[in-house]
Amino acid sequence: MGYLSGKVALVTGASAGIGEKTARALIDAGARVVCSARRVGRLESLTAELGERAIALELDVVNAQSVDTLMDRLPGGWRDLDILVNNAGHDIGGRRQFHEGTAEEWSATIETNVIGLMRVTRVVLDGMVRRDSGHIVNIGSVAGIQAYTACAAYAASKHAVHGLSETLRIDYAKTGIKVSEVLPGMVRTEFAAIRFGDEDRGDQYYADFGVCLEPEDIARSVLFALDQPPDVVIAQVVVVPTRKPPAS
Ligand code: NAP
Repeated sequence: MGYLSGKVALVTGASAGIGEKTARALIDAGARVVCSARRVGRLESLTAELGERAIALELDVVNAQSVDTLMDRLPGGWRDLDILVNNAGHDIGGRRQFHEGTAEEWSATIETNVIGLMRVTRVVLDGMVRRDSGHIVNIGSVAGIQAYTACAAYAASKHAVHGLSETLRIDYAKTGIKVSEVLPGMVRTEFAAIRFGDEDRGDQYYADFGVCLEPEDIARSVLFALDQPPDVVIAQVVVVPTRKPPAS
């Protein structure tokens, strides 16, 4: 079995993209994985494929009741979470100038990417603190450390994830709890289609960008952060695409 054998992980946003590939990578490394998101049908297909070390959990990170009942809804033997991958997120209504957006859209982005992440972390940390052991990996973004045009609410949310990750890492540095942040550049997932509410426009967005990461690349970085000696914490992994050298 892999180096995560015996560990239990919770992945938020496991129904698509980076979360789904991270759940698969965790299974390959030997962990048991709680695959969570709102689209349960997708999670059930995924866990059926992954086998008995994976279970599906309906979880809406913006819904306080959904998050607060998370532990009670897990089967016995699955509640001592060793790993939390805070991945759920979106940018619905994004890639527009600030004056074209609405407070409702900004709120939904901040509620999901920041408050949702904090809610889940709060619930999971109780057990980690009690056991003095655990690893939280937050999926931030390069938008959390550098500015680019037409992404005000999303950049604000990911700057918050960055600040939160740094603070938590320091807060728990003298305990058995590690906090890491993985900050991807452009990754080809459903993210753009959901942002624009239009699949074709999402595909075009990635095509126009040219070279993109694949969600497996981010899953590999999450696993790198987890695969360290006890006295080493990977604070941040910034992952950006690069062009393949032309064939000679
Ligand atoms: P994706 O393919 O659209 O997947 C997003 C996931 O988030 C889905 O599984 C979705 O599941 C879940 N989600 C959204 N709202 C949720 C909620 N309220 N409660 C629970 N789950 C929710 O996008 P992705 O590219 O994999 O994005 C994953 C993370 O990577 C996000 O935090 C994103 O900001 C970050 N990121 C992405 C890129 C990129 O270029 N793609 C770059 C940097 C960072 P349900 O809809 O089933 O709930």
